[in-house]
Amino acid sequence: MSDYRMGTKCVQGGYTPANGEPRQIPIVQSTTFKYATSEDMGKLFDLEASGYFYTRLQNPTNDYVAAKIAELEGGTAAMLTSSGQAANFFALFNICSNGDHIVSSSSIYGGTFNLISVTMARMGIDVTFVAPDCTEEELNAAFKPNTKAVFGETIANPALTVLDIELYAKCAHAHGVPLIVDNTFATPVNCRPFEWGADIVTHSTTKYMDGHGVAVGGVVVDSGKFDWMAHADKFPGLCTPDESYHGLTYAEKFGKEGAFITKCTAQLMRDFGAIQSPQHAFYLNLGLESLHVRMPRHCENGQAVAEFLEKHPKVAKVSYPGLPGDRFHAQAKKYLPNGSCGVVSFELAGGREAAQIFMKHLKLAAIETHVADARTCCLNPATSTHRQMTDEQLAAAGIPAGLVRMSCGLESKEDLIADIAQALDQI
Ligand SMILES: *Cc1c(COP(=O)(O)O)cnc(C)c1O
Repeated sequence: MSDYRMGTKCVQGGYTPANGEPRQIPIVQSTTFKYATSEDMGKLFDLEASGYFYTRLQNPTNDYVAAKIAELEGGTAAMLTSSGQAANFFALFNICSNGDHIVSSSSIYGGTFNLISVTMARMGIDVTFVAPDCTEEELNAAFKPNTKAVFGETIANPALTVLDIELYAKCAHAHGVPLIVDNTFATPVNCRPFEWGADIVTHSTTKYMDGHGVAVGGVVVDSGKFDWMAHADKFPGLCTPDESYHGLTYAEKFGKEGAFITKCTAQLMRDFGAIQSPQHAFYLNLGLESLHVRMPRHCENGQAVAEFLEKHPKVAKVSYPGLPGDRFHAQAKKYLPNGSCGVVSFELAGGREAAQIFMKHLKLAAIETHVADARTCCLNPATSTHRQMTDEQLAAAGIPAGLVRMSCGLESKEDLIADIAQALDQI
């Protein structure tokens, strides 16, 4: 599949049926798999042979879909997880443990910010946050001798900042650690972080990859390029024998291409169990089949809505990387030449009250805690996800009370704009 273009990989990647086999990916709705002898099964447990024995660890349906996403991102291996939160936790915890340190962009999804700064802190993992567009000097200054990973989002949710992936990768590699990029908002259709030097990519597949608001899920993808053995002192979990797996050394046995995902499956999935169900993997694959057709439409609608809002007198500010005046436009042109995403953030001049009136009168855009759906949806953080904060605290966090995050779906843009226009008239 690797020579095919994006559209072909979206439709046919990951699964090639043999004669007489199902054309569509079969849902292997089974928790377990049978073997003729104990020796056969023993080889699987020792990772001596590949095969299935229990769906918490691996399932054929999940593997077909993971293989497709690995192809889309240009990676060597991937694993599905139960959610995007699980994907980011696994990607980081696979190489960080008690006493280690992470460098992360400060402009990331709130759930990931909490995961890293609160929950992983409780596990003894420290973090230093840096701006997504910091200078090389600022970024280098954030590293410590115990730093094990660098993290950022291609397009941040909800701030819509664009990460300087090339710079982040350069600094990570100069310090002998991998760059992990959450590519949820861009999707591999609009950006493939591995081409800019990232080592591991994660997604909340709940968003554009699914794209229809049906299944929560996540994925971790390995580029297969990071040389763990060259930095063996930093990554003992990959480069020294795993006593919980019969003394096997992942980086030796599975090489650069397979060590990261094998360890992630054999240890973290075994112990935490955040597996995606085969049924959800099947839904996810239906979304992936049209990802390359949907993304340009999401971007077209996002661009049209952003341009309309920018000219409207009741709108104080619009953030969208596709607008020439946007702070991240130059970065977007470099990393996202075919478009960014369908999410637009804007601040209403009338503040919190104006946002509430506006949203109440929208007919097509529903008020939802979601983004990246075929149906347009919107959210006012001040009255929902961030409602415990005062107007002053919101302003300090860069989330003004009148901010609306709108995720443009796949409807006709003329109808979306007409709906937004009539709702703005009500303010
Ligand atoms: C939604 C989201 C997550 C969390 O994913 P879930 O599937 O909701 O667990 C992580 N990162 C980004 C960028 C997201 O948008």
